[in-house]
Amino acid sequence: TPDPLMRPHEQPGDDGPALRPQTLDAFVGQAEARANLRVFIESARMRERAMDHVLFHGPPGLGKTTLAQIMARELGVNFRMTSGPVLARPGDLAAILTNLDRRDVLFIDEIHRLNPVVEEVLYPALEDFELDLVIGEGPAARTVRIELQPFTLVGATTRMGLLTTPLRDRFGIPVRLQFYTVDELEQIVARGARLLGVQADRDGIREIARRARGTPRIAGRLLRRVVDFALVEGDGRLDRPLADAALTRLGVDALGLDGADRRYLRLIAEHYQGGPVGIETLSAALSESRDSLEEVIEPYLLQQGLIQRTPRGRMLAQGGWTHLGLVPPRLSDT
Ligand code: ADP
Repeated sequence: TPDPLMRPHEQPGDDGPALRPQTLDAFVGQAEARANLRVFIESARMRERAMDHVLFHGPPGLGKTTLAQIMARELGVNFRMTSGPVLARPGDLAAILTNLDRRDVLFIDEIHRLNPVVEEVLYPALEDFELDLVIGEGPAARTVRIELQPFTLVGATTRMGLLTTPLRDRFGIPVRLQFYTVDELEQIVARGARLLGVQADRDGIREIARRARGTPRIAGRLLRRVVDFALVEGDGRLDRPLADAALTRLGVDALGLDGADRRYLRLIAEHYQGGPVGIETLSAALSESRDSLEEVIEPYLLQQGLIQRTPRGRMLAQGGWTHLGLVPPRLSDT
């Protein structure tokens, strides 16, 4: 089996750890979460105890991994990282837990995808810093108890609803991450441009920020693509016309929606008269997994008021019709 301990991953297209903020002060946005974390980190340091377990939830690319790394650094402890689907057997988890030093941070990404058998082993580890492992099989099987060093689990999930209640209850500090404002993304893009050594003006940076879907990971990716266009087809400078032309060629529209977002909206508008339509139907029609619709596409469309979730399915909201340049059928009938 592969080594279940992972390096902090970067998505394809991320430029590596250089762009990641390293301290809470350098981390832009999420003001409320940051202020609270600062208190809990400081308190844990003063008491010389492991910080309570933290659960980050929210759409991908909003900074869950980054915040977990920052926590470890500010606590002055090691950062260990793994993910739910990688921990296939209880032994995989046990190997990681028994190797933690006192007060270390263990980050488990996609924690909603933990194998239930592994999750069982995690409960006493979280509660009492103990492991109950079954050794052997059949009548000879016996349970051994292993004491662990106190540690902090930081879980991350894009799907809070898929977490089991007992697991959710074991996190003393649940933190919901929000989409970023354009002003916050502007600071992030400006910092990225500085680190990349690009000459960029304020309007050019703002254009990228406006079209980044409220998401730092996307802001970073768009910045690098726009810089490619600036270098190859422009004079190397990033301004608004250049950013606008590059983003349009990348299929990113004025609201920051990409082709997949627009296909989703158009499907509801054109094939289902604006809905309601069930998520499974959308998933089949778009050939996209239900998970990726619910985790990646819908949260931003909901936040922008383009769609609504109803008990009978998804509906296009007024903003969605407007964005597509269409008129809802009920209005056009009259
Ligand atoms: P998640 O774990 O929520 O998917 P990450 O922590 O991996 O997101 O962040 C994705 C990318 O966005 C990383 O390259 C990270 O450096 C960048 N990033 C996230 N949040 C911020 C922020 N507040 N300021 C600057 N960059 C950020």
